[in-house]
Amino acid sequence: MNKSIVFRDKNHHQQNKQGWTDLEWIDEFYKFLKGEVPEGIHIRRCNKPELSHKKAKTIIWYLQEHMRILPDNIEKCHNCKEFFDTHSEGIYWETKGKNYCGGCSDLVPENYDRGKRP
Ligand SMILES: [Zn+2]
Repeated sequence: MNKSIVFRDKNHHQQNKQGWTDLEWIDEFYKFLKGEVPEGIHIRRCNKPELSHKKAKTIIWYLQEHMRILPDNIEKCHNCKEFFDTHSEGIYWETKGKNYCGGCSDLVPENYDRGKRP
């Protein structure tokens, strides 16, 4: 499991999360963006982000691809909507622009990217 997210320093929010993988951190951040605030963090209800699935994914994408702060090998499965690590499982269906985790890769046909432009 990859651990490439680098923290500036340690704080109480990371308690009991020392062994967390990038996948777990990104999943928590995604849930936070959707309004699920982690235990120990207090945010006034009116300040809580409550983004849609697509908007939350766009912010993660921005931090992965533009700012390059979050690792880009963590993707969300198009089918089951769970995050997974592309270094250890899954398929990227390039012509459809969709990622499938290991559990859902059976949905991708065997010749999935045949005929795509080089
Ligand atoms: Zn899946």
